[in-house]
Amino acid sequence: MYERVYNFSAGPSVLPEEVLLEASKEMLNYKGSGMSVMEMSHRSKEFMGIAADAEKLLRELMNVPANYKILFLQGGASTQFAMIPLNLFSNSKTADYVDTGAWSTKAIKEAKKYGTVNVLASSKESTYSYIPKLDKSAFSKDADYFHITTNNTIYGTRFTPDNLPDTGDVPLVADMSSNILSEVYDVSKFGLIYAGAQKNMGPAGVTAVIIREDLIGKAMDITPTMLDYKIHADADSLYNTPPCYSIYMCMLVFKWLKEKGGVAAMEKINREKSQLLYDYLDQSAMFKATVAVEDRSLMNVPFVTGNDELDAAFIKEAVAKGFVNLKGHRSVGGMRASIYNAMPVEGVKALVEFMKEFEAKNK
Ligand SMILES: *Cc1c(COP(=O)(O)O)cnc(C)c1O
Repeated sequence: MYERVYNFSAGPSVLPEEVLLEASKEMLNYKGSGMSVMEMSHRSKEFMGIAADAEKLLRELMNVPANYKILFLQGGASTQFAMIPLNLFSNSKTADYVDTGAWSTKAIKEAKKYGTVNVLASSKESTYSYIPKLDKSAFSKDADYFHITTNNTIYGTRFTPDNLPDTGDVPLVADMSSNILSEVYDVSKFGLIYAGAQKNMGPAGVTAVIIREDLIGKAMDITPTMLDYKIHADADSLYNTPPCYSIYMCMLVFKWLKEKGGVAAMEKINREKSQLLYDYLDQSAMFKATVAVEDRSLMNVPFVTGNDELDAAFIKEAVAKGFVNLKGHRSVGGMRASIYNAMPVEGVKALVEFMKEFEAKNK
C-alpha cells in the first residue's frame, strides 16, 4: 500500500510512476545480472547497453542530427556555466547573453571569468516577468556564441521554439534544464543545448549536453581535463565513472516518453495542462498569473494572490490535500506549480478544482 502526493516541485521533481515501478522491479537483479545497476561496472556490457540506449533514445526523441554528440556529464547545469566559455571561447573570446533570470545571471557571472560578455537585454527590472525583445543590430558579429535560458524555472517565462534569436553563424547555446523534452525545439538551430536531468529527465546527478561536433576540440589551454568536451566526446561519456544510476533512470524516462508518443505528443499534453491553469488564473478574482501572456512557460506556472497571509493559508491547505511543493521561489513570492512531463493532467485538474474551492471559501 502506498500513497503518492501531487508533487509540484521545481526540481528535483516528479518522475513517471511507471518508471519508478520499473526501476523498483529491477532494483535487486537487473535483467538477470544478479545485481542492481548501482553495483555494476560502468564497463560491463549491461551498463554499456544502458548508456547506449539512453543516447539513442534521446537522439530519437529530440531528432538530434548526426553531426551532434550527446554527452552525459556530472556537475549539474551549473558546471556548464563555466564549461561553455572554457570550450567555446576559441576566437574573439566574446559572447552575447540574454539575462532572463537567476540562472542566466549565474551563467553570465561565470563566463566573465574567461572572456568578454555582452548582456544584450534583461528583464530584471520587472522581476523577470517577460522575455526581453532583442535588437538584432546589437548582436556581436564576432561572438564565439550566444547564450539563452530557454525556460526560466523561477519566473515561469520561456523562449518559444518559434521565437529564438536569429544568431546567423554565431552558435546559439541554450540552458534547457527545465523544459528539455517538453515541446519540440529544432536542435539544428542550436550549437549546444544543456540540461540538468532533475527537472524533466530523471534524478539529479547527470547533465545532458547536446553539442555540434565542430564546437568540440577548441578548449582553452587552462581547461581542466574533466571540463573539456573533447575528452568526454572521445570516450563516449565514459572517460571516468559516469553517474550510472542517474543515466539508467533517464533511459527509463526516455523509453516512457517514447511510449507516450514522443515530444510532440507530450507537448500537446503540456499545452493542455498549462492552459488549464492559465485559463483559471486569468479569470480568477483571487489568483493572478505573473508572466506576460506570450512568454508563459509550459512547465513552471507562478501565481500570486497579492496577500502574503492568503498565500500562506493556501499553501498550508494545499499540503493537507496532497498538493505539495507549491511555494514560490523567495525572489517572486506567492506560489509556483511546476508541471513537468511526469505530472499527469489529472494532477493539474485536481489542483485547479482545489484552487476554485479555496477561492470560493475565502471570498
Ligand atoms: C535548476 C536549474 C539550473 C541549475 O541546475 P543544477 O543542475 O542544480 O546545477 C540551471 N539552469 C536552469 C534553467 C535550472 O532550472
